[in-house]
Amino acid sequence: MSRRARTRLAVQRREPHTPAPEPMIPCPTPEPPREERYPLAKLDFLPKRLTALLLLSLLFSFAQLAPCRAAKLSPQATEIQVYPQRPTPSQPAVPGSPSKQHTTPEPPKTEQYTLSQERYEKAVAYSRAEYILYFVSYVLGVVVLYLLLRLGIAAKLRDFAEGTSGNRWLQGLVFVPLLVGALDLCDLPIHLYGHSLSLRYEQSIQGWASWFLDWSKEELLGIGFALLLVFLLFAVMRWSPRRWWFFFWLAALPILLFVVFVSPWFIDPLFNTFQPLGAKYPELTAEIEKGVHRTGLDIPPERMFLMEASKKTNDLNAYVTGFGASKRVVVWDTTIQKLTTEETLFIFGHEAGHYVLNHVRNGFLFFAAMLLVAFYVGYRGLHWALARWAQDWKIYGPHDWASLAVMLLLLQVIAFLAMPIANGFRRAQEHAADIYGLEVIHGIVPNAAEVAAHAFQVLGEVGLADPNPPPIITFWLYSHPPLAERLVFAHSYDPWSKGEPPKYVKSHEP
Ligand SMILES: [Zn+2]
Repeated sequence: MSRRARTRLAVQRREPHTPAPEPMIPCPTPEPPREERYPLAKLDFLPKRLTALLLLSLLFSFAQLAPCRAAKLSPQATEIQVYPQRPTPSQPAVPGSPSKQHTTPEPPKTEQYTLSQERYEKAVAYSRAEYILYFVSYVLGVVVLYLLLRLGIAAKLRDFAEGTSGNRWLQGLVFVPLLVGALDLCDLPIHLYGHSLSLRYEQSIQGWASWFLDWSKEELLGIGFALLLVFLLFAVMRWSPRRWWFFFWLAALPILLFVVFVSPWFIDPLFNTFQPLGAKYPELTAEIEKGVHRTGLDIPPERMFLMEASKKTNDLNAYVTGFGASKRVVVWDTTIQKLTTEETLFIFGHEAGHYVLNHVRNGFLFFAAMLLVAFYVGYRGLHWALARWAQDWKIYGPHDWASLAVMLLLLQVIAFLAMPIANGFRRAQEHAADIYGLEVIHGIVPNAAEVAAHAFQVLGEVGLADPNPPPIITFWLYSHPPLAERLVFAHSYDPWSKGEPPKYVKSHEP
């Protein structure tokens, strides 16, 4: 489920580093950046798979915690985009203190996110479409599950499964793939439309055959995980009818952890090709290592990977994933192709922040806590719903395989409501990583703030980042702060000129 989200691409109309000929539209920067409310965010766009074995969907939404798409933003649907004529010039980072040295004439500063008229319109239209798709997908998921129950289809699937064997687990082996497959088929049109959108907006360059192949692989993986988790769930429910929500949580965590652990080795390579970064870009790797050492960090070169994203997308990205022995930084080849080495160093610094600040581990712990609450609410909700509608839905009780549809329905609703909480947490992590990235390159590359800001500018242009997402969309969907805010923040963060210590990276010994 997370993979399709990675397909955004944008065709580059022009070299990102050359000034565009057309008049540029400054994208409004919401407000003067204030640290406390600095949103970090970007969305993982594509609608989550309905299939949501809810567990699965939770699992994958967690898996997405780690990867951070440095690049993506989604455009947003601000209604009536009033193109701001001239937003307030971005202020010097620290009031009253010039933050950069001007030894040589500087190129124009990237003080705010700007787009050409054509790009601006595309970004707004694309964002709007994606937001709508996202919400439609969730609503559709709820409606489909409700109809499966209300029309007795879940019960019929159960009857069919029971007719195939007297063995309860063999019945489950029939029922679970049928239910999950049916849900995914209902959700397929949403994903087809999502891919056609990303093709139309030149984000994706992945052909339909390849897309279907990926979809099928996800389907098989999803059904495999679903079987594992559902069998575990039903076994625990039998064993402890009143406390299953807790014991299932305990039992599921190691499995989820294991999946996150092995994903970089066994799952990610099913969808993309990876190679050691140093094999193709030895100089860049050396630069990165230099930067890393200066900060006292240790990210060995064998933990840095290059992903051949350019086969499928025009978008840029990088992320940190895995745990323990599988922990690694992955940079998309598109990022290296479209950014300068200095800008790539900033992106890397951001990812190093996730790595060093243990964001994957912390994200997992946070996710685990949310999951416990979700299971408890699911447990209460299941009994509540069955007490009212079991007869209408022809469900015998919680142990009935068909009750899985009720669980999924509840989880779908819970996951939706929990989204702002999870995204708020992620935005905080992304913001921390942005700070980290700025601190890492400070003193290593000249004019670090401009380098970072320009990297954001390119990310936004290429990925059609929403220039001005509505606050409610940011609150609900954005896992990163809106790009325009990140860009302005890059220019405004300057503890050095105030004589304050940087937040994370304390020293830069050469
Ligand atoms: Zn990030």
